Amino acid sequence: MTGRRAVDGREAIGRLVAAAGGLSRGVAFMEVCGTHTVNAFRSGLHSLTPGNVRLLSGPGCPVCVTAQGEIDRMISLAGRGGVTVCTYGDLLRVPGSGGTLEEARSRGADVRIIYSTLDAVAAARKAPEREVVLAAVGFETTTPATAVAIRTAAGEGLDNFSVLASHKLVIPAMHALLRGGKVAIDGFLCPGHVAIMLGADAFGPIVAEYGLPCVIAGFEDVQIAAGLARLTELAATGVAALENQYPQAVTAKGNEVARRMVAEVFEPADVVWRGLGMLAGSGLAIREEYGAWDAAKRFELGESHNREPAGCRCGEVITGRCVPSDCGLFGESCTPTHPVGPCMVSAEGTCGAWFRYGSGRKAAGR
Ligand code: SF4
Repeated sequence: MTGRRAVDGREAIGRLVAAAGGLSRGVAFMEVCGTHTVNAFRSGLHSLTPGNVRLLSGPGCPVCVTAQGEIDRMISLAGRGGVTVCTYGDLLRVPGSGGTLEEARSRGADVRIIYSTLDAVAAARKAPEREVVLAAVGFETTTPATAVAIRTAAGEGLDNFSVLASHKLVIPAMHALLRGGKVAIDGFLCPGHVAIMLGADAFGPIVAEYGLPCVIAGFEDVQIAAGLARLTELAATGVAALENQYPQAVTAKGNEVARRMVAEVFEPADVVWRGLGMLAGSGLAIREEYGAWDAAKRFELGESHNREPAGCRCGEVITGRCVPSDCGLFGESCTPTHPVGPCMVSAEGTCGAWFRYGSGRKAAGR
C-alpha cells in the first residue's frame, strides 16, 4: 500500500520525469475516469509530462459512453404527454438524432434537472397524475443511488415512477479495450471512486490477464500526477502490479453493502457503449422483481441504436484512438456553446476539457 503520506506535486513530477528517463520506449497509459480527464487537463499535467509518456483518455465519462440511441429514448419519453423526465444536468445538452432534452424542454416537455435520485421519487409522489421517469446513467458509483430510488418507490408502491437505466460497468470496458487491440495501452490509471465501490482487488484480473500495471489514484491533481509517476516507474522496471495509491478511501474489497443493494435491484446485462458497441455483461438491467419500475418495459421502448452524429469522433476519442483535434469539427462547428457530441457537452468530456484548457496537444505528443 502506498499513498498515505501527503502527496507533493513537485516530488510527483520529479519522479515522473526520472522514471520516464529510464523507459526504453514511449509508453501510453489510460485513465478511465472523467474527473481524472478534466483535472489532468486543468492542472496542466500533460504539459509537465515527458514526451515519451502519454496519458490517454478512456471511456470514463458516463455521459460520453451513453449511446445516442439511449439519448433518443429519453427524448422520445419526454415528448409523451403526461411524462416528466428527471435527469442530471450534463445530459440535457447531449444531442440525440433529433435534438436534445433541452430543446424538448423548450418545446414544452417536462424535463427536470435533479441533484439526487430521490428528487425524482419526490416528484412522482407530488404529482400522482403524471408518469415520472428517472433517466439514469453512470458507472458503479452512481448505481447505488438509482437502486435506492427504485427500492424506495417499490417500498411505497409508487406506481407512477420508473427508471430508464443506462448504467455501465468500467472493468468490462477495460477488458474490451485490451482485447480489441485497437489502441496500445501500457497500463491503467484506475478510477478512485469506482474502486471505492468495487475494491482494489477488482482490478487484479487486468494485471494478471494482460500483464499490465494498474494504479488506483485519487482525484486531486497531485494524486493523479503521483499515480502517473508510479505507473511510469512500474513500466520502466517492467513490473506489472496493482497498486492502491488512494488507501484513504479505497479498501481491498470495497463497499459490500452498496454492492449487495445494487445486486438486489440490478442484474448484469449486455449493453451498447458509444465507441465500443455491444459488450457482454458490461451494464446493468433492472431485475424482473422490480420490472414495474423499469421505464423500458413500462413504455415498451424498442431497441436502442449506436449511431453517432455525422462527423463526430467521440467513439474514437473515448477509446484513445484519436484526440479531439483529430476531429474535423473540433473548435469549428463543435464548441462548448454549440456541441455536436457528448465529449464536448459533458463537464467530464475530453473534447470539452481539451477546448477549455488547451493543453491537449502535448497529451498526444503532437
Ligand atoms: Fe464529437 Fe465534437 Fe469531440 Fe468532434 S470535437 S469528437 S464532434 S464532441
